[in-house]
Amino acid sequence: MQNLRDREKLVEWDKNYLWHPFTQMQDWLTEDPVIIERGEGVYLIDIDGNRYLDGIASMWTNIHGHNHPDLNSALKTQLDAIAHSTLLGYSNIPAIKLAKKLVAITPSGLNKVFYSDNGSTAVEIALKIAIQYWQHKGQSERNLFIHFDNAYHGDTVGAMSVGGIPTFHSIFNSLLFKNVQITAPEVYYTSRKDCDSTLVKEAWLNSVNRALIENRGRVAGIILEPLIQGAGGMLLAPKGFLKGVEELARQHGTLLIVDEVMTGFGRTGRMWACEHEDVSPDLLCTAKGLTAGYLPLAATLTTDDIYEAFLGEYHELKTFFHGHTFTGNPLGCAVALENIAIFEREDLIKKVQATIQHLHDRLEEFYTLHHVGDIRACGMAVGIELMENTERRILYRFEEKMGIRVCKAALERGAILRPLVNTIVLMPPLQITIAELDSLLDITYKAIAEVTE
Ligand SMILES: *Cc1c(COP(=O)(O)O)cnc(C)c1O
Repeated sequence: MQNLRDREKLVEWDKNYLWHPFTQMQDWLTEDPVIIERGEGVYLIDIDGNRYLDGIASMWTNIHGHNHPDLNSALKTQLDAIAHSTLLGYSNIPAIKLAKKLVAITPSGLNKVFYSDNGSTAVEIALKIAIQYWQHKGQSERNLFIHFDNAYHGDTVGAMSVGGIPTFHSIFNSLLFKNVQITAPEVYYTSRKDCDSTLVKEAWLNSVNRALIENRGRVAGIILEPLIQGAGGMLLAPKGFLKGVEELARQHGTLLIVDEVMTGFGRTGRMWACEHEDVSPDLLCTAKGLTAGYLPLAATLTTDDIYEAFLGEYHELKTFFHGHTFTGNPLGCAVALENIAIFEREDLIKKVQATIQHLHDRLEEFYTLHHVGDIRACGMAVGIELMENTERRILYRFEEKMGIRVCKAALERGAILRPLVNTIVLMPPLQITIAELDSLLDITYKAIAEVTE
């Protein structure tokens, strides 16, 4: 697409002016960057015309493929009306319609929608609503959150405070507010493959119960990623754990905050991960798949009970004093509405079941590779963990960059991946065809074999 001089210029400007997220820039500067120019379905196309399968749905966001005609057209139609107007004191059409739609498609009881721009802010809002809710209820000593080892809820300070990944968060310890972190039980690490064991579930739930008892009357809420922890390494929760946490939250009279930023919009094979265990949280956060990977938009949904606690006379200062400039952006809301319309038109949740089945069947093959220690899959979210020695479960050292090396090998073969340390993540758009999926799996298999065997 680009002539050679343009290409050189782009690379030079990238290295001169850009600071990439979650990237060691010293490494980056020595490498030849892939610069994406276009998208076509599940393919990303770079400035040299190379086509890559988008194996991670552009950071876990894409659902129906890139450059989708219906999404494009919804966006263009809205653009011809207006790109942005504020929700602070005024309203707009797509924000109203999307709020109604979200209430209709989320678990029962979630009847109010608060918009923001990304997953981290959706979580911040949930935490702040919980804190303020308890103040209005006259229980301001409820100001602690129970959260979990390996949890990831975003990179802003509040979201980090309820995170559990020391590599990301420990540098900022001095900024983080105090919470109650539930340590993974020993049995969890020794029996990961057997992750629906009731033993693991009971051990986790006992820890949560203990924390609730030890902090009686002080817990504002329990926050978790339902069914699968994403950035922590695609770690599966034992079956029934989510339901168990919900029951504990109810028993102890605290709030349940479910972070569906990654799991929402069909990723787990149901529209919401909560549906697998018939869970109705008090607060639900959604972002990544909300606009099918098109625009930054997020929402925090909550119940009538919580919403009503904020009602009062103007001078009582019960207002929720929080809002972002682009809250309820009409372009984002319009494309989100079309995203949901496609789910409904194409009965996508039903359609994706065959894709999930095929994916899970084929993943078994990966155990024939000597350095594949663990394969964890939940719907269309997969983590393949590489190990130096799978029998003795010895991990590769961080410096070996095994995950990064496998992803480079996959890139050579035509797939874009991004690892979580030694775990290779597969998270393709839900609309990937079986043939495309096969090709993604073949590439991944060969890349792992090439680097590790
Ligand atoms: C990605 C993610 C976030 C943060 O979302 P951003 O849009 O990157 O701020 C929060 N929670 C979960 C579970 C996520 O996967």
